[in-house]
Amino acid sequence: MRKFNKNIPFIDLSAQKNRLGKKLDFAISTVLSHGSYIMGPEVKQLEEELKKYTNTKHVISCASGTDSLLLALMSNNIGKGDVVFCPAFTFPATAEVISLLGATPYFVDVDNVTFNISIDSLKTAILKVKEDTNLKIKGIIAVDLYGLPANYDELNNIARDENLLLIADAAQSFGAEYFGTKVGKNAKITCVSFFPAKPLGCYGDGGAVFTDDDKLAEKIKSLRVHGKGKSKYDIDLVGLNSRLDTLQAAILLVKLKEFDWEVKQRNLIANRYNFALKEIFDTPFVPKGIKSVWAQYTLKHENRDLIQKQLSSKGIPTMVYYPKPMHQQNAYKKYYTNPIENSEILSKVVFSLPMYPDMTEDIQEYIINNLLEQNV
Ligand SMILES: *Cc1c(COP(=O)(O)O)cnc(C)c1O
Repeated sequence: MRKFNKNIPFIDLSAQKNRLGKKLDFAISTVLSHGSYIMGPEVKQLEEELKKYTNTKHVISCASGTDSLLLALMSNNIGKGDVVFCPAFTFPATAEVISLLGATPYFVDVDNVTFNISIDSLKTAILKVKEDTNLKIKGIIAVDLYGLPANYDELNNIARDENLLLIADAAQSFGAEYFGTKVGKNAKITCVSFFPAKPLGCYGDGGAVFTDDDKLAEKIKSLRVHGKGKSKYDIDLVGLNSRLDTLQAAILLVKLKEFDWEVKQRNLIANRYNFALKEIFDTPFVPKGIKSVWAQYTLKHENRDLIQKQLSSKGIPTMVYYPKPMHQQNAYKKYYTNPIENSEILSKVVFSLPMYPDMTEDIQEYIINNLLEQNV
């Protein structure tokens, strides 16, 4: 088996940078010469491109994926006395924004096959809040974990029946599709992160809010800049400073041009992993009609820790997203939760393999061969 003298990256951003080459330098130097570092022309242009890409009516860029979630909740006046449901098996930001606004996160279990919010567990949680508390149920934040869109047909039905705001935490799933619809339109509000390691990443922090709702879009635009009204010092709302840097917008404009190719590559690489590993491992399941963007390629195995150690000794990095579900985190133990069996099991068995669009076939073969040779 071929050996690699340098360690294989988990995500190779430098290969991507080299591929994009002079286009990035040119985009960055253009910003340096016009000097509009805050809300420069590239920000507007990016928002227009993202609208076209997703066929969404409004795109409001902002400072991070976390802020996009915060803005989404703030635009609906979520606060004290309100409950927002979210999966326990997620990145902390999903729950953090709920708590920051004084509202109550309610942790719901995930499906053990798709890793996304369990509809049954959500229904039970809604009943429990109604029966056991005086709190108001206000919203659901569904997470498209590892780049796979959640079950939006069911989620939108529940949101409509219960009069709940549905937010898609699509930090990991920009570029994915749900029955022919690109991520951005599956929920009332969709929140995206451009953190460097996400499918569409910039070179720092960045995010965006997607919605077809005119009123919410206006409000989010105001909240993004300190809640400004008609002029800069007319303040209508208590807001944030959460603009996307012009430099990051310029970088994203370059990357967006190559993004379709990258999504194809990610799917090609995921399919190769699937094909080679399906006999031995529990490979990821993608429901019919859904297209994942493979932010992560995640396997499950009882002897996960041992596998990670053995792969690491061969220079193959793996990661665990996430080793502890939210309801077990010190900061979040005080909140409500359903029985969260799947989330607890998954946190002990999942591990993700290197995944990035520039992964070469020989690197992937090396990873696959080492996995197949595992002594577990
Ligand atoms: C990355 C991520 C976020 C937060 O995005 P940032 O841009 O890092 O603030 C939120 N939710 C999920 C599921 C994420 O993966």
